[in-house]
Formats: sequence, C-alpha cells, structure tokens
Amino acid sequence: MKYSVFNLVRQATRGHQDWPRAWRNVEPKKTYDVLIIGGGGHGLATAFYLAKNHGISNIAVLEKGAIGLGNTGRNTTIVRSNYLLDENAHFYEFSLKLWENLGAELNFNVMYSPRGVLNVANSDAQLEHYARRGNAMQLNGIDAELLTREQVKDFVPLLNCSLSARYPVTGGLLHRRGGTARHDAVTWGYARAADTLGVDIIQNCEVVGLRVKNGHVIGVNTTRGAIDATKVGITVAGHSSQIAAMANIKLPIESHLLQAFVTEPLKPVLDTVVAFGAAHFYVNQTDKGELVMGGDLDGYNSFAQRGNLPEIQHAARNLTAMSPCFSRLRMLRSWGGVMDMTMDGSPIIGKLPVDGLYISGGWCYGGFKATPASGWTLAHTIAHDEPHSLNAPFSLERFVNGRVLDEHGSGPFPWLH
Ligand SMILES: Cc1cc2nc3c(=O)[nH]c(=O)nc-3n(C[C@H](O)[C@H](O)[C@H](O)COP(=O)(O)OP(=O)(O)OC[C@H]3O[C@@H](n4cnc5c(N)ncnc54)[C@H](O)[C@@H]3O)c2cc1C
Repeated sequence: MKYSVFNLVRQATRGHQDWPRAWRNVEPKKTYDVLIIGGGGHGLATAFYLAKNHGISNIAVLEKGAIGLGNTGRNTTIVRSNYLLDENAHFYEFSLKLWENLGAELNFNVMYSPRGVLNVANSDAQLEHYARRGNAMQLNGIDAELLTREQVKDFVPLLNCSLSARYPVTGGLLHRRGGTARHDAVTWGYARAADTLGVDIIQNCEVVGLRVKNGHVIGVNTTRGAIDATKVGITVAGHSSQIAAMANIKLPIESHLLQAFVTEPLKPVLDTVVAFGAAHFYVNQTDKGELVMGGDLDGYNSFAQRGNLPEIQHAARNLTAMSPCFSRLRMLRSWGGVMDMTMDGSPIIGKLPVDGLYISGGWCYGGFKATPASGWTLAHTIAHDEPHSLNAPFSLERFVNGRVLDEHGSGPFPWLH
C-alpha cells in the first residue's frame, strides 16, 4: 500500500486497523541468488538497489537480531559531503544527492533535513585548512562557504565567539546542504521498499560460518540452518573482521566503541550541526528538542555496545567550552556502537579474495551518511562482479599497493587508536 495523504485519511476512518505489515516475516529458503549478511542500513540498501537497479530479487538479508538496531539505529544522524580528497568527495556527494530524493524514492519520510553543517575553526592554521578543504569541495561542485568569526557568530548566536574564550573562534566552514536524517526511518524505508520488490528479510538469523569450495563461496551456515548462494555480501559494520575471518580473510579493521549523548529537551536553540574545531566533538538539536552529541572513540578495542565515563566527560567539557550557556543542561542518556575502523579512515567497498564474496565495511565514524551510496555501489559490484567507478578506489588492495585514502576531514586519525 502506498503511503499517501489519501491512504492516511482512508485508514483514519477505519481506526488504522488495515495498514499492512511494512515487511513480511518469512522463513529462510534453501537457496538464494544473493545473501546479504547484516540488516542495518547498508545491507538493506544493498538489497533494495540489487532488486531495483539490477533486477535481482531472489535475495535474503540475514540479520542476527532485529533490523536497524546496530550502528544504523545508534548514530547521531549527520549526513554531509564536505570531504577534501576527490575519491571521498565524489562518493559522498553522490550519496547526498540520493539523500535529497530518498523519501520520494522509498515512499517513506526519512526526514532528511539540510540544516547545514558548520565546522568551527579555533586557530588560524585550522581556518587555512578549512579554506583548502572548501576550495577542494567547490572544485568538485560541492557547496562550501568560508565564514569569518562575525559570520559564525551570526549563524550560531549561542556559540561563544568572544576573543577571550578559552578556544577563540577564528572562522568556520559551512556546508549548507549537509544536515541530518532520521536513522530509524532509513532502516524501515529501505526494508519496506526492498520487501515490496521481493527481498526476504530474515531476522533472528545469525551467520555462524561461511562455506567456501575451491575458492568460491557457496553459502552460509546460520542459527536457522544452512543457506546456499554463490554471491554473499557482508555489511556487518563492527563485526566485519569476525565474518571475514570465517573465510580466513584478515581485514585491516579494528573494532572500537563510539558513544553518543543526549541532553534533556529544550525549545529550539540550534538549527544547524556544529562541529567544534578545538576537539573532536559535534552537536545538533533534534526535532524533539534534545541536544545530540558525539566525540572520540573510547580508545580501546571492544565489541560491547556501551561506553565509559571519560567520554561523557569529554562531551560535556567540549559542549560547555563551545557554548557555556549549555552548562546547566542535564545529560539524559548515552549509548554506544561498535565501529569498524580502517587504518586510513576510509571504507572498504568491493570484492574480497574469495570469489563471490563482497564487503562494505570499515566505515569508521561516518557510514550513516554513506548508506544510499554504499548500497548503490555494493549492489553494482555484486551484480557485475566488478566495482562501480565510485567505489573502485575503496578496494581492499589499496592497503597492499599503498594507495590509501587518509582523509583527515573524516575524524581523528584511526591509526592513533
Ligand atoms: C554513536 C555513533 C554515532 C555515529 N554518528 C554518525 C553520524 O552522525 N553520521 C554518520 O554518517 N555516521 C555515524 N556513525 C556511523 C554509522 O552509524 C555507521 O557507519 C553505519 O550506521 C553502519 O551501517 P551498517 O548498516 O554497516 O551497520 P549496522 O547498522 O551496525 O548493521 C550491521 C548489522 O549486522 C548485524 N550482524 C552482525 N553480525 C552478524 C552476523 N554474524 N549474522 C547476521 N547479522 C549480523 C548486526 O546485528 C547489525 O544489525 C555513528 C556511529 C555511532 C556508533
């Protein structure tokens, strides 16, 4: 059933009793053309684009728990394409263009909100770096504006732009088309649209083994039995290294913990995303009024989805250094996700050294914004057994041939952790 105003009114007159399930609850079949391991945004998007763009619909998405409860449901929802390196700029800009029309494409409101992403500069050197990044973005056709301290003050009045601030503001880089999207809606929208095209979404089905014969994948073993397929895509974020190890592949990925924090709700005070320049910290305000914040990794390897107190302190300290007026806010809750950190900060999207095995992983802090492009390009790679031009630079081989994509704009250096 199409989601529309007409159907909303129609269902309202019937007490909302006739809405169909958004996706079917199915038993796994014995054989599929393609299996996708991991029912987060990336896995569901891959299945959707395989069916929509390539006409392959005999697909199952295997999820060990419920869909969307991994990092897709745990992130701070920021989407942007303000990258320095050409490879990243082209990939994330393609993704941002897909975000702009995603609600209509999926017939599901993903609440994409281009409220702008402002990177605040807290030193002259940092402003120089932002000027370089902004120039590179403009050369790649991406919107970028370099702001003076006064313009930053006008744009975000609650920032402490005083010259006597502990970390004085020297300017900023504004990317107006960046912003936020509702993470749960992205999961549900892709799941519903993929299901409509015939994809089986199988929850509570953990993959416990990969079956490989003569160098070619032939299927997987799961907690609900063996399933055959000659093409298998891995989209499990922080568990990438564990699944790859089932085929004796060692990935240059470490799993680390990243937390997010939410304050009590306020009236609207912050209508953009602000990234602090003096530390790795960023904040935005949700439609409910809460401030959502993110910062550094916890600094040790972990598969636990919960964090430690020092990072809560880190977030609170940076929020109050940036805007002292928030110092009396109460922190309501925090949570953690397991990050798949590559050693150059960029993802791996492509073929693995076993025929028929593909991966989209190593997303570090930034995979939510990549969800549409990751799904689109991984689907292309699986369908054609060769990468799309946009994901060709993100191969595993780059760690062998040395052509790494060390993108400083994507966060602190992962190899420091
Ligand atoms: C606190 C936090 C803040 C973040 N903020 C942002 C942000 O603002 N912007 C941004 O772009 N990115 C952000 N990210 C990163 C982003 O959330 C992730 O990169 C992205 O969501 C990864 O999506 P995914 O579909 O690959 O992974 P997930 O959503 O984690 O999905 C992977 C799925 O695989 C399943 N799985 C694992 N092992 C198995 C198995 N053996 N069998 C079957 N299923 C399995 C898991 O249960 C999970 O559901 C943030 C992450 C965190 C944790």
